Amino acid sequence: MAYAYDDQNIFARILRGEIPCDKVLETDHSMAFRDIAPKAPDHVLVIPKGAYVTWDHFAAAASDAELADFTRAVGKVAEMVGAAPGAGGEGFRLIANAGQNGVQEVPHLHVHVLAGRPLGWMVQPR
Ligand code: 5GP
Repeated sequence: MAYAYDDQNIFARILRGEIPCDKVLETDHSMAFRDIAPKAPDHVLVIPKGAYVTWDHFAAAASDAELADFTRAVGKVAEMVGAAPGAGGEGFRLIANAGQNGVQEVPHLHVHVLAGRPLGWMVQPR
């Protein structure tokens, strides 16, 4: 199957309340919590509550309600950490790693919201 979901992944366990997290936001279809190893002063992970592995999986299989909720949750988190330019913030970066070349570690879709300092180059040149 193209999108085999491992329900023992760490974010599935956080969603089930088996592992604690520093929760920032919870909505009908999404949850946001601080990354355990922050790469910026503000580093929040936004995840859908549904069992989606990657962005392409979510885009193909999620309902319109889930897609809208998740998109708005990401925007809300940017506002909540004070980074949304539209609300006077100094900006942020979104990252959604997928699969091997994306170097995705946790196989449950997540968007990283990074903010709080200038973030440098988008991708390391090599
Ligand atoms: P990926 O490489 O999959 O895009 O990012 C996974 C992220 O999850 C990493 O930034 C890592 O620090 C974070 N992470 C891994 N395990 C945990 C955990 O148990 N709790 C939290 N809050 N973040 C985690």
